[in-house]
Amino acid sequence: MAVPFVEDWDLVQTLGEGAYGEVQLAVNRRTEEAVAVKIVDMKRAAECPENIKKEICINKMLSHENVVRFYGHRREGATQYLFLEYCRGGELFDRIEPDVGMPEPEAQRFFQQLIAGVVYLHSMGITHRDLKPENLLLDDRDNLKISDFGLATVFRHNGRERLLNKMCGTLPYVAPELLRRPEFRAEPVDVWACGVVLTAMLAGELPWDQPSDSCQEYSDWKEKKTYLPPWKKIDSAPLALLHKILTESPTARISIPDIQKDRWYSRPLKKDAKRARLSSGGVADSPGGFSKHIRSDTDFSPVKGALGEDKASYSTSQPEPGTGGMPWESGTGSIDQLVQGFSFSQPACPEHMLVNSQLLGTPGSSQSPWQRLVKRMTRFFTKLDADGSYRALKEVCEKMGYGWKMSCTNQGDGLEFKRHFLKIKAKLSDIVSTQKVWLPGT
Ligand code: ATP
Repeated sequence: MAVPFVEDWDLVQTLGEGAYGEVQLAVNRRTEEAVAVKIVDMKRAAECPENIKKEICINKMLSHENVVRFYGHRREGATQYLFLEYCRGGELFDRIEPDVGMPEPEAQRFFQQLIAGVVYLHSMGITHRDLKPENLLLDDRDNLKISDFGLATVFRHNGRERLLNKMCGTLPYVAPELLRRPEFRAEPVDVWACGVVLTAMLAGELPWDQPSDSCQEYSDWKEKKTYLPPWKKIDSAPLALLHKILTESPTARISIPDIQKDRWYSRPLKKDAKRARLSSGGVADSPGGFSKHIRSDTDFSPVKGALGEDKASYSTSQPEPGTGGMPWESGTGSIDQLVQGFSFSQPACPEHMLVNSQLLGTPGSSQSPWQRLVKRMTRFFTKLDADGSYRALKEVCEKMGYGWKMSCTNQGDGLEFKRHFLKIKAKLSDIVSTQKVWLPGT
């Protein structure tokens, strides 16, 4: 499918889906440049159109090697297009093997890159507020890039920090003070989420559903019962760092400069930084299935609701006048063409965002991580063409006693669907390909 408003670019593949639209891969027919295009249906986002404007404003402010690069945006009718650096390596989430995690040197490297990205964001006065492995993407060299600024906000402007009070994020990753206090500082909340991400990388499971005393796993952690999983799987050096990060009191919690001085964090990297990749199917291929915490019966929904809700209006006219001159524009003529007519001007938005910072809304909140997990993981590629695959699938379903019909929808209980998916996939192992195969017309 061609990009509707510009020649030479094709939308070749869906990379992901969110509540208000999807992310597509656009490839230039001539130069083969690849760009991720986040397509937001403003009608679906009607209840909080400010969110997407805020996401654009924040994206415009940012330029760092550990943050997904923003090329520009364009509005066509009710559709907003955001042009982003394409992260070929997919989500960090897919590198985490359930109940196992990943080799410690890999986790250390990803963690260092995560911290570098967060240091940069904080230096710009921006807090991400939804750091989790699904929002950490990897480029073709496995460099980590912080993505999805749909919940990000400005916490410091002109040297003045403000406290936050909005409850947002994703429960297993949110800091305890966010669930308890009317107001809290932004930076320690992001630091906490980084600690949960590190735990997931080192143990292949999330430590708790939420950091509240009603949660047994959290109480166990506070009582230092590290003989229990996930902690017992983690080596003493990174565990010592996790103790400092996952400290309940935000004032006692380690700061980023001190994380950077930590013994485990600053240990020299493994010489060979090029790590063996997990197979492209990632966790879906692991026989162990899901971590006990990564299940549909766990409430993973992004935290909803807000304490305090300012209303403010934006005046972002479309299309914005292009001013050009951003560093990535040199030598990227065709990407320029893709986003032409857009403003690459320096951000004029922080004031707006400060006023607007308490807006309600969690883009994507209607879709639970489980649903997204299912989408990512219940997919495999075959060595056969469409007809052959269809015949093989039909045969296996009949043998296994499933009733079946051809349909394009995927509804119902995600966990149940996933269980059946794995059984069917196992039966089709002889035609399952470890390579991604894109057939013409798919
Ligand atoms: P949600 O808020 O529900 O997570 P969203 O609508 O905000 O979704 P994103 O999180 O930005 O959308 O993107 C959805 C998915 O698309 C990501 O989890 C990722 O798998 C894929 N994706 C997003 N941006 C890129 C990119 N730049 N390169 C490659 N894949 C991407």
